[in-house]
Amino acid sequence: MSPHVSLNSEIQVDPSRILDTLVNNLDGMVYRCRCDLNWSMLFVSHGCFALTGYTPEALLSNGYITYEQITHPDDRLRVRHEIERAITSGKRFSVHYRIITSLDQIKWVHERGIGVLDESGEMVVEGFIEDETMNKKTVEALQNAEHYYRNLVENAAVGIFQTSMDGHYLSANPTLARIYGYDTPDELIHALADIGRQLYVDVKRRNEFRHQMRTDGEVINFESEIYRRDGSKIWISENAHIVRDVNGTFVCYEGTVHDITERKHHQSLLERQANYDVLTGLLNRNLLHQLLEQGIARAERMSYYLAVVFVDLDNFKFINDSLGHAAGDNLLVEVAARLRGCLRASDIVIRQGGDEFVLVLNDHYRLNSIISLLERVLAEISEPVLLAEREYQVGASLGTAIFPQDGSDAQTLLKHADSAMYAAKSKGRNNFQFYTSELNKVADERLNLENAMRGALEQDEFEVYFQPKVDAAQRIVGLEALARWNSPEWGGISPDRFIPIAEESGLIIPLTEIIMHKAFTAAARWNAELGPLQIAVNLSPKLFLSDEIVHRLAAQLQQVDLPPARIELEITESVLLGDTERAVYILHELKKLGVALAMDDFGTGYSSLSYLRRFPLDIIKIDRSLVTGIEYEEEVAKIARAVISLGQSLGKVVVAEGVENQAQFEFLSSQGCHEFQGYLFAKPLPAAELTQLLQQRTIQPA
Ligand code: C2E
Ligand code: CA
Ligand code: CA
Repeated sequence: MSPHVSLNSEIQVDPSRILDTLVNNLDGMVYRCRCDLNWSMLFVSHGCFALTGYTPEALLSNGYITYEQITHPDDRLRVRHEIERAITSGKRFSVHYRIITSLDQIKWVHERGIGVLDESGEMVVEGFIEDETMNKKTVEALQNAEHYYRNLVENAAVGIFQTSMDGHYLSANPTLARIYGYDTPDELIHALADIGRQLYVDVKRRNEFRHQMRTDGEVINFESEIYRRDGSKIWISENAHIVRDVNGTFVCYEGTVHDITERKHHQSLLERQANYDVLTGLLNRNLLHQLLEQGIARAERMSYYLAVVFVDLDNFKFINDSLGHAAGDNLLVEVAARLRGCLRASDIVIRQGGDEFVLVLNDHYRLNSIISLLERVLAEISEPVLLAEREYQVGASLGTAIFPQDGSDAQTLLKHADSAMYAAKSKGRNNFQFYTSELNKVADERLNLENAMRGALEQDEFEVYFQPKVDAAQRIVGLEALARWNSPEWGGISPDRFIPIAEESGLIIPLTEIIMHKAFTAAARWNAELGPLQIAVNLSPKLFLSDEIVHRLAAQLQQVDLPPARIELEITESVLLGDTERAVYILHELKKLGVALAMDDFGTGYSSLSYLRRFPLDIIKIDRSLVTGIEYEEEVAKIARAVISLGQSLGKVVVAEGVENQAQFEFLSSQGCHEFQGYLFAKPLPAAELTQLLQQRTIQPA
């Protein structure tokens, strides 16, 4: 046996001398190994040492180390997979991978081989492994190329990066560091360990980046707003692609970054100039159609009313001509501010041109709330304005068209609002007109209603209906007292109509007195006969703030045999918006009496966390507009969910009103709402009918 050939003693090979010399002088390692987990070597040529740094003896029969161990851990699986696949299909294999030498160096090698049956019929692998590390010349060329590209990257005017799939930087050039506000690329790489969360202002942006990469393999002009190191925001545009290795495996994302902040600012300035009125800062007519169409679509979906209002100032020409343009401009700015001030966030104010404004009032589910709003707009505009050091009174003529009755598209509604506005002008200015004559009648009747109410209070025409509130198990836990007026002359009149008038005329005080008296008397009887029951009464804002209410309530409580703890007072958030110190004082006085306080119509106005914390409220009633559509309108559901969890986290009882179907009830109760009120359980009922219902106590939904 040749002294140059290392042989495993088990196997009798008979190598010829020529073969022996050849094998042992090759640059590389000839081998035969078992197909086992160690790639146990049965034969290795002398090239083993030069290749791996281990002597043949060390490797043979896994004497000191196994070939599996020499294979780079990251490549082991792939190599095994490829070799086994070739063996199974009886084919040759050729695989590139890394090994770790005895000196801990990493070397790229190229292995070729084939599975064969040995003399005893066992499957073994025979092959040849050679060093792939380049020769000196190639190395030099590569170094030059690297130097060249490094220079290019370092001095490029654009930011250049490589990032990993999970979102950290593998490399960055100095320009990128500068764009992002870092002194060096190293600082950037260190600080931005989670690109998705730290870099993009919109946290979904990184996922969108990855998604586009997955589907297209690249992103082009990918524009995002990002945070710089100091927290300031800038806009960037990215171009990037995926880098893969020879085997097609993902290596990194690589790309460039441009700072496009200036362009963006310029662009948004242009957009603003295009869509806003320079003088008043209101929207100009450009977006009117579009916004109106959107409003109509929403109103249709939600069964809301939408109002388009043309506002035309009455004395503008006079002021402009006699006081000059500067005064005219001041007047327009003042009117714009007043309009904005008396509308809600969901309403739109547009300067149509000259002294004409258009209002789009969204999300009203009562025509009466539109009428109240128009009255307010008119009153606001009629307040004196200081111009050229003198006070002037300017009125306006308002024309209103309502979706759906006055038109179902933007065009028609605008046309009809315009003609209603002319009707208002010819009616003698400073008034509003509806396109539909019936609505004008409604507005006129308001005036007469006040007189009728005075009579009605004397004739005791006001009644109280009671609407049950139920818990999640649909047991009645409380009642809301609601005023009813059945006038012999006018028929049934909704509280939405007479309450605002009662407020304005001061009749609300005697009215509330009557309602409280009737409600408490009935509740005292039910409490005595049928067990504990909460009774809620509505308090209108003006009455509340007059603080009449505190001693009037105290007096009432003395008259009826009802513990204060059974009483809830429902107030609306408008009482908390004005003189808050006074409101806080009154609320605390009421709490001292021992009654519970509920925030009515929550979610419609300025509902804010701060007042929920500051005011001693026990209950919040989620407004009907946040319940209607909750089962199919994602936006509504989201707000409702947020309101409920807000209420819960502040320890309030959360009540939903206007629950009309089972789906709404289920959604609300799954979100943890505590109590429910609405037609699904019962409409407001007169006391006699309610007694029956209370005897059953549990309600089977209709
Ligand atoms: P509110 O306090 O928000 O009362 C709830 C209103 O929603 C009631 O209208 C009730 O009948 C109605 N409602 C209840 N469940 C449903 C439902 O499932 N679907 C629908 N579509 N509506 C439902 P109502 O009785 O016409 O009262 C209207 C408003 O008038 C009340 O709104 C309240 O702000 C005011 N109001 C009523 N009575 C009084 C009162 O005695 N004093 C004061 N200050 N205001 C009152
Ligand atoms: Ca209420
Ligand atoms: Ca309400």
